[in-house]
Amino acid sequence: MSGAPQIAPAGTRKLDARAPSGPVPERWDKYKFDAKLVNPANRRKFTVIIVGTGLAGGAAAATLGEAGYNVLSFCIQDSPRRAHSIAAQGGINAAKNYRYDGDSVMRLFYDTVKGGDYRARESNVYRLAQVSNNIIDQCVAAGVPFAREYGGLLDTRSFGGAQLQRTFYARGQTGQQLLIGAYSSMMRQVAAGTVKMFPRHEMLDLVVVDGRARGIIARNLITGKVERFEAHAVLLATGGYANTYFLSTNAVNSNATAIWRAYKRGALFANPCFTQIHPTCIPVSGDHQSKLTLMSESLRNDGRVWVPKAKGDKRPPLEVPEDERDYYLERRYPAFGNLVPRDVASRASKAVCDEGRGAGDTGLSVYLDFADSIKRVGENVIRERYGNLFQMYEKITDENPYKTPMRIYPAVHYTMGGLWVDYDLMSTIPGLFVMGEANFSDHGANRLGASALMQGLADGYFVAPSTLPHYLASTPMPKIATDHDAFKEAESTVQAKLKRLIDVRGKRTPRDVHRSLGKVMWDNVGMGRTDASLKRALAAIPGLREEFWKTVSVPSSGEEFSQVLEYAGRVADYLELGELIALDALERRESCGGHFREEYQTPDNEAQRDDEHFAHVAAWEYAGDGKMPIRNVESLDFEYVHPTQRSYK
Ligand SMILES: Cc1cc2nc3c(=O)[nH]c(=O)nc-3n(C[C@H](O)[C@H](O)[C@H](O)COP(=O)(O)OP(=O)(O)OC[C@H]3O[C@@H](n4cnc5c(N)ncnc54)[C@H](O)[C@@H]3O)c2cc1C
Repeated sequence: MSGAPQIAPAGTRKLDARAPSGPVPERWDKYKFDAKLVNPANRRKFTVIIVGTGLAGGAAAATLGEAGYNVLSFCIQDSPRRAHSIAAQGGINAAKNYRYDGDSVMRLFYDTVKGGDYRARESNVYRLAQVSNNIIDQCVAAGVPFAREYGGLLDTRSFGGAQLQRTFYARGQTGQQLLIGAYSSMMRQVAAGTVKMFPRHEMLDLVVVDGRARGIIARNLITGKVERFEAHAVLLATGGYANTYFLSTNAVNSNATAIWRAYKRGALFANPCFTQIHPTCIPVSGDHQSKLTLMSESLRNDGRVWVPKAKGDKRPPLEVPEDERDYYLERRYPAFGNLVPRDVASRASKAVCDEGRGAGDTGLSVYLDFADSIKRVGENVIRERYGNLFQMYEKITDENPYKTPMRIYPAVHYTMGGLWVDYDLMSTIPGLFVMGEANFSDHGANRLGASALMQGLADGYFVAPSTLPHYLASTPMPKIATDHDAFKEAESTVQAKLKRLIDVRGKRTPRDVHRSLGKVMWDNVGMGRTDASLKRALAAIPGLREEFWKTVSVPSSGEEFSQVLEYAGRVADYLELGELIALDALERRESCGGHFREEYQTPDNEAQRDDEHFAHVAAWEYAGDGKMPIRNVESLDFEYVHPTQRSYK
């Protein structure tokens, strides 16, 4: 794909989600009953590759190892415990209804479909809500220290898009505690010999034999050696692609390489333009930054968002009297107030800043103020709830949020798009399963807060361990070895790409080109997208890519530890994926969830969906280098949660 935008060809692939029929509450049980099983004594004969050790990959490795499969687990970090999931702060949703405030599986299902602006598959979302309760039990059994209330029951708090308290948490370190739980269970299997760990290994290609995923090519990041690994199935749990935007709240190491290379081997990429911009992040402070920092959504339980009523009011926040403040979320959305979903909150913040009422020198921030809550419940209670987040904020900004409001602004945070998967979590390449943030599955056009951890653990602990055996038991597979031609071809493709990167011997660092791409993406494919801005991005990205391949500097022989080489490979992939994101956004001529096309909005500036033409998943098919990818479509049916104009008023 290159040059000026054209219309993407419409694909003819029939995308069958293969969800069971019947009433939605019964589908998952029906699936499990109908599925073929692998007898315990036969499980060790199957080798399964799991790429990624975050919550999705770690949970799957622990569960499949415990079941007796022979698991090979890969990650790029030095320890599985450093997966990006460790950064998750605020909490994990489940429909336990411990508070007896009206929750149920049906309500979590409803909130998730509505929160995703009716662009998710009902069967999958219902299953997610069902399994959510098992996750909490599993994690408690694994020793996760969830916060508890006075009576000893697990405590919960509110997150966006719900009018009840279903979010379980461990202070502001929920991801860390959940990951330690999954990691401990996985390491138990490492000791038992069912899971073999390959830390510091980066998957650089997928090996497809006779149309099935049968292995990967990975580079040992310490020695530089490119290695081949064979298996009966490959499970990707490699996280999201938000770093295509350069500045995001994701860990700097989060990347899109595994899913992008699988896409180029035939896995369809669904809804790449569905990216989430989180409303509460520490604002950008200058060009020196390489990442942004999230301030968890949980803070909106006690923090009130406001800006001055008057344009250009630059007084320090404590000098702005109460009646000169605009608590714009409470004003515009009285029913949900500060806890409207992220897409709605982010756009509202952008709007007040665009009006010239933003705070701080740049005018690109709004206040998140805890004064009322501190007055009501006391500083100690606020410290207990969010102490580590307040400390992090103070370290970064040198301002004390107990005394003065935080300043926050939206930033790229999460990607709802990802590899297309069916009900089994299998991609369009048989034998390639995709879990967690790497797949497109359950969140539609906007993910609700605290639902990513839920989905990653649902996929890893419960869904893939039930669907993978069905695939293994029903698919005769010949034995293959890593000297098969498909492995040789994939390895030489990887070697050629590494050599090409090294051979450029230019002067520009990969980071510098990445920063330029990020600017194009944020300015044109960010919070507000238009036909013109998307065409600008599509015109600019091929130029950047060309420049990258002429000017990038990778001082490495390829045969040693080289973080520049690792990073350059990831940037090369972002330079292709960025274009697909823009193309998908251009072709989706409606606004929904996080995808806000300015041409399509309601009179009061909310996202205006076009259900007649776009109630579908767009699944992109790679057509070859330099060729326009093909846009396939999976229609979405809503039997239970009928699409309406989303309202949080
Ligand atoms: C700051 C922050 C806070 C968040 N807070 C919350 C929250 O409170 N609640 C919530 O629900 N969600 C939260 N999220 C979202 C959530 O953390 C993520 O969506 C989730 O953790 C992703 O888990 P995962 O297992 O899919 O992938 P990750 O945790 O990203 O793991 C990816 C794994 O893949 C490996 N990997 C990647 N590429 C390769 C490759 N090519 N070869 C080998 N290995 C590879 C990595 O080494 C890693 O092990 C937050 C996100 C951020 C950024």
